[in-house]
Amino acid sequence: MNDVISQLIALQKIDLQLDTIDNEIQQEQDALDQQSAMLAQREHDIDDLHEQISTLEKERRTLDLELGEELAHVKSRQSKMMQVQTGREQTALLKEIEDGKQNIKDKEEKIVAIMEEVESLTEQVTRQQELLQEETNNLAEATTKTKKNIDAISKSKQGQSSKRQKHAHKVDAKLLGKYTILRQRRHGLAVSNVLEGVCQGCFMSIPPQQFNVLLRGDRHLECPVCQRLIYHLPPDDQE
Ligand SMILES: [Zn+2]
Repeated sequence: MNDVISQLIALQKIDLQLDTIDNEIQQEQDALDQQSAMLAQREHDIDDLHEQISTLEKERRTLDLELGEELAHVKSRQSKMMQVQTGREQTALLKEIEDGKQNIKDKEEKIVAIMEEVESLTEQVTRQQELLQEETNNLAEATTKTKKNIDAISKSKQGQSSKRQKHAHKVDAKLLGKYTILRQRRHGLAVSNVLEGVCQGCFMSIPPQQFNVLLRGDRHLECPVCQRLIYHLPPDDQE
């Protein structure tokens, strides 16, 4: 194993650990974000319910007014009944009164239906608000806990980061640049072992001649398929 490749393997090992740490931090943050999003959705749902209630109440106020007018109309028709002379006038008035009464009945039924719906929606609001309160408390707790977890993880990251710096210094600058780009493009794995002629980064076979070069152990090559820096280290020699 040549020095260059040993340095890169050591560096990658640290970098992969750092990736794990970053993932842990991200996961903690994501879980909290998800909880926040749920809370925002709940608030939105409550707003929607309020909106529905307000629309229904507006409708009910209109119906109340119309009902009052209809009642007054029927009452005035009823008092006019005393003054009419002919049978025809009487029949017409009676018809008007009957229609008026039917209108009143219809409006009253609509009002009752609206009141029932408002009641059911109001119950939903109460339930949602209780849940919101609970979730708000939970989120506050989770935020404190997450911050603590992230702080602890970040502390362990500091140690790894300074270790990384020391290792990175040893690597030739040009090679380090290549390694960095490869890691970005190859899901964090820039340096890859080749076992039985198969690159462990992309799992494709490399030409036998190249594998023979790697077997000598004094050089590293590029995988012709994934361009990762490849080397050969028998399974027994790996940690
Ligand atoms: Zn490969």
